[in-house]
Amino acid sequence: MSDQLAKLVQERVGGEPVCLFAYDLDRLTEHVRTVTESLPPRCRMFYAMKANSADRILRALAPLVAGFEVASGGELAKARVVGAEIPVIFGGPAKTPAEIEQALIQGVTRLHAESVLELHRISETATRLDRTADVLLRVNLAGPFPTATLAMAGRPTQFGISEEVLPEAVAAARTLPGLRLVGFHLHSLSNNLSAPAHLELLEHYRRTVVGWEREFGMCCEVLNVGGGIGVNYADLDDQFDWPHFARELPALVGRFPDHLREIDFECGRYLVAESGRYVVEVLDVKRNHGVDYVLVRGGTHQFRLPVSWQHSHPFTVLPVDQWPSNALRPELHNARATVVGELCTPKDVLARDVPVTRLRVGDVLVFSHAGAYGWEISHHDFLTHPHPEHVYYGDGF
Ligand SMILES: *Cc1c(COP(=O)(O)O)cnc(C)c1O
Repeated sequence: MSDQLAKLVQERVGGEPVCLFAYDLDRLTEHVRTVTESLPPRCRMFYAMKANSADRILRALAPLVAGFEVASGGELAKARVVGAEIPVIFGGPAKTPAEIEQALIQGVTRLHAESVLELHRISETATRLDRTADVLLRVNLAGPFPTATLAMAGRPTQFGISEEVLPEAVAAARTLPGLRLVGFHLHSLSNNLSAPAHLELLEHYRRTVVGWEREFGMCCEVLNVGGGIGVNYADLDDQFDWPHFARELPALVGRFPDHLREIDFECGRYLVAESGRYVVEVLDVKRNHGVDYVLVRGGTHQFRLPVSWQHSHPFTVLPVDQWPSNALRPELHNARATVVGELCTPKDVLARDVPVTRLRVGDVLVFSHAGAYGWEISHHDFLTHPHPEHVYYGDGF
């Protein structure tokens, strides 16, 4: 537990119950710098903004990453607030004509097209604005995938262009005015924890793209291999082996054709999850039907990730010795805690059946790896409780 976090909590004891997201910007920039500096030539790391689009996070990341991947006009606007010149790549499965226009006017580097109709829409807008749009075709791969990645990819989703339609999409992208087909986009999985599996997936992408180049008689300039590098919430000591991945990547990249000038990664979770924590005060402890419930200020309306992924989110107990009350102070000893929030629904569970040695009302729970898809994906105003604080510490440089 960092000193800064303990200090932050101490400053708040005795006031309103603690409920905040704390972001360690030094930790964030150190991690992201390690990642980006270990990439071989031709590889570029974009930040997928949907994981966390807070302005402070974007500003800390902007000098380190190749640019931002956005998937809405709103995200594009946030990127432009951070910097007019920051390279932005624009994806998203259902772009409106207005968003396409906004993307072209604001000079995005590339658009990732998700259907043949969308190619027509981009072409129409680009022609009207007298511009040329560089596009990647986002392809929804049919598989079969290499065995290690099989469980994570290759199931039906609404994303991208089916391989059966690819010849039609390639033809449209090459003939419609205002478009320049520069390559393909392949984002097929989420939260992959295995570096060897990820390398295997990229090798699969390489073979697939080389096959398409032959089939369509084209040369790809850019390949986007998506995000999807994961965080192991179940065992914090066993994370994606980035050093292994970075060691093996240059050889793999070396096998790509020379005319492919750029391989884009667009990671979200892996870059920002670890630097954020969700910090909440215990308001009550009670036993119902043989289960020890720990009730906190906050819950899944602020940190929906555990319900969304159906997991127990890892936390540690930050003991708070002060107890400014004459009332009894309930506590658990060597028990199994189920941590729930303040919502009037039994689904508001952050962690279930977790062994704790000692946990008192008034102590603070620190949920780690809460920086990605935490606050961002939550239904903040359900039940109209006050929002958490968002505290950023470290200067991020
Ligand atoms: C969500 C998303 C990402 C980022 O995924 P992570 O799992 O956070 O790395 C990248 N690309 C696309 C197209 C996405 O939808």
